[in-house]
Amino acid sequence: RRAPKVAATGDSRLVVLAGPTAVGKGTVSTYIRENFPEVHLSVSATTRAPRPGEVEGVSYYFVSDEEFDRMIEAGEFLEWAVVHNKSRYGTPRTPIDRALAAGTSVLLEIDIQGARQVKAAEPSATLVFLLPPTWDELVRRLIGRGTETPEEQERRLTTAKVELAAQSEFDFRVVNSDVQAAAAEVVELMQIQKATDLPS
Ligand code: 5GP
Repeated sequence: RRAPKVAATGDSRLVVLAGPTAVGKGTVSTYIRENFPEVHLSVSATTRAPRPGEVEGVSYYFVSDEEFDRMIEAGEFLEWAVVHNKSRYGTPRTPIDRALAAGTSVLLEIDIQGARQVKAAEPSATLVFLLPPTWDELVRRLIGRGTETPEEQERRLTTAKVELAAQSEFDFRVVNSDVQAAAAEVVELMQIQKATDLPS
């Protein structure tokens, strides 16, 4: 592995938002993208197929297995991982280097293995663990979104139990009862002045 170049400078921070499946990481990070333009939200590359409504370069960079291999070889990732035993996901490092160098704070919405890799590569990174209000609520959200088969739901819940145990490795915990409040807490942890007022 190459030595990491990524380092937060001045007031800019590298913050990782992770948490178990269906906790609402995607919803919180989308809310941040839409309401806090001063935060640079990292766009990952993935080998999975786009879902309806997902936009290339906004949701993800959708790449082939061959392209993902090439990006690994070229050292283009800050971290990458196989998630849910299926597709590969990786964080391109160049946009992060650029944002941090320009004094912009960066938010990564990635899985727990990825969070560990980022902390190892860049100890100054801040790890934020997003928690469900209760276990039952997590189960309700996972089943309610209806995007996974019952077998896949079962598998993700087993993984979620293991993942919840990882929260002790994190610097901060945020409970996601309400998306707006959770997003505001994450942004506050990034120590950024709000550019826009949150709608009440
Ligand atoms: P989804 O396929 O539902 O968009 O995402 C599945 C999982 O992949 C989520 O837990 C998400 O946080 C994680 N993920 C997305 N991008 C990355 C990445 O670049 N690196 C890692 N390690 N995980 C990622």
